Amino acid sequence: MYTIKTEASFDSAHFLKGYQGKCSNLHGHRWRVVVEVQSDKLKEDEQNRGMVFDFGDLKSLLKDMCDNLDHSFIYEKGTLKEKTTEALMEEDFRLIPVAFRPTAENFSKYFYEEIKKKGYDVRRVEVYETPNNCASYEE
Ligand SMILES: [Zn+2]
Repeated sequence: MYTIKTEASFDSAHFLKGYQGKCSNLHGHRWRVVVEVQSDKLKEDEQNRGMVFDFGDLKSLLKDMCDNLDHSFIYEKGTLKEKTTEALMEEDFRLIPVAFRPTAENFSKYFYEEIKKKGYDVRRVEVYETPNNCASYEE
């Protein structure tokens, strides 16, 4: 099995509703996302011969996904009061509501599934919320 691996990062704020500890407060991370895709054979067309996938294509897909989340406040739907989101939007802050608790574990599954939807055979996605703390998802 051949694999290629690329990474990108984004900065965002989040908090964990219902968590007892520091992460219940609004704070930020530089999220580092490492994606590994696989193939049991290499491409044979002239452009991509000898490659699993074009690194550039995977890299730009991942970069676009990270850029969309960059410098935003990511929160789980239903965890902020309506008046809070209204007030933040009035300030023109960039809010990104997601359907999951915004943990590194859930982000790793989110990236895994989104990249898989683009036709990649994803082996594993790792998401670092600090240089020392990493969660990953694979099937
Ligand atoms: Zn955090």
